[in-house]
Amino acid sequence: MTKQAIRHKTWNIIYKISSFNGNLNARYAEISKREPLVQKLYHTDDQAERRELYLKVCEKDPETCKAAIEFFNKVFYFCFRKGFKKVSDWVSNEENDPVKWDQLFKNERFNEIIKKYARHHAETRKKDLNLQQYHNWDYWYKNTSPDTNCLYTNQVVPNFKQSLGLIKDFYKDLGFEDIFSQIDFIQKEGSPTYAMIHEKNGIWLNEVYLSESGAGCKTGSLNYLSVITHETGHIIQSRQIKYPHKHFFLPPNPLNEIVTMFFERLFLSPAFLSRFPDVKTDSNQIYKELKTENEELLLRTLNLLEYEDRIYALVQKNKLTDKLLADINSELKQKYYGFEPNDLEDHSWHRWCFYLAYSPFKQRAYILGNLLSRIMLDNFLKTLNNNQPTQESIDYLHNMITTCSENGSFSTWQEYEKACSLDRPIDTEFVVNGIAKALSQG
Ligand SMILES: [Zn+2]
Repeated sequence: MTKQAIRHKTWNIIYKISSFNGNLNARYAEISKREPLVQKLYHTDDQAERRELYLKVCEKDPETCKAAIEFFNKVFYFCFRKGFKKVSDWVSNEENDPVKWDQLFKNERFNEIIKKYARHHAETRKKDLNLQQYHNWDYWYKNTSPDTNCLYTNQVVPNFKQSLGLIKDFYKDLGFEDIFSQIDFIQKEGSPTYAMIHEKNGIWLNEVYLSESGAGCKTGSLNYLSVITHETGHIIQSRQIKYPHKHFFLPPNPLNEIVTMFFERLFLSPAFLSRFPDVKTDSNQIYKELKTENEELLLRTLNLLEYEDRIYALVQKNKLTDKLLADINSELKQKYYGFEPNDLEDHSWHRWCFYLAYSPFKQRAYILGNLLSRIMLDNFLKTLNNNQPTQESIDYLHNMITTCSENGSFSTWQEYEKACSLDRPIDTEFVVNGIAKALSQG
């Protein structure tokens, strides 16, 4: 059996094994109950009130804890049956992942970078919000005075239809108008946001599902537009596969968010954003906001990946409990954000269930996406003329995407290295360097 065939089989195992996946809709309902509380934290001025709200966000749901622990144990059971001692080894082996993620979290330089960033983050927030102490419950709070008005979350167009119109123009300029016109964009509130290609009665359907709760922002905001750009990017990339077959995904899983994050970043780059009058008048602020957004996304994904790594280490020793799920969650949040210690039993990890159940160590995809899309973007921007795509840009883009996409699920790390014009292979050190650059304050 070839390596690829094994990979495909394992994906099916992960997908089928658990009641956790089986009950995903129930879990989503449970998780989404917490989201309005988080939204409320954005605008609650009183710190003590924020703490009260956060208590509800981190409330324990015994059913979710039970389902999660069952899920982790089952993943480990299958991993063990396949002859691997660690879930991360099992997953890395199948995906030929050259990065030693568990080593990353022990890497001294990496931990120094995170420590420095967490300190900087906490100090900045304390200063901005005029706080004595910075806690978990202060994380989402936005100071709503007019001069800190957030351009990224403001509406730039009034509705769904006009949002699509803008993204259509964006993809048209890049030569993907045909694919765009074949996508069904479905606005469905209360559902997650995702892209899907599937076959129905011999016809391939291209669908993008969108909701404000799934995207975590208002329809028509720059944030929302970047989410549409991202999901559309999944379809565009899937459509470059030379020989599509049923049930293909775009793994190796750790590589399937690079192209989409490239499109998202390109849409939010000065070259494209300068088309919006609001942004034009306050360009410095929006780029500052976007820098912070990117840094926080990187932090969030690293935090979640280390959390998962710690969880599976406990599963391996048969030591995982509800209490430990909460304790490690708290401990890592202090590490990544510089929060003050607290004595709450923090089950806010329930909000992450989807990611944990979707596939083991899924966050690798966003971390690599973050680091590699940045390189792709830098290369692409060099081909623009006066902020406008040239024929050279179109050729470059198509070549780049074909290089890493035409083999679909069988695309290799080397193909992505080539698509990004890297002069060295992707490995643990490459990731540490990338994180250092992404989080640098210069
Ligand atoms: Zn994605």
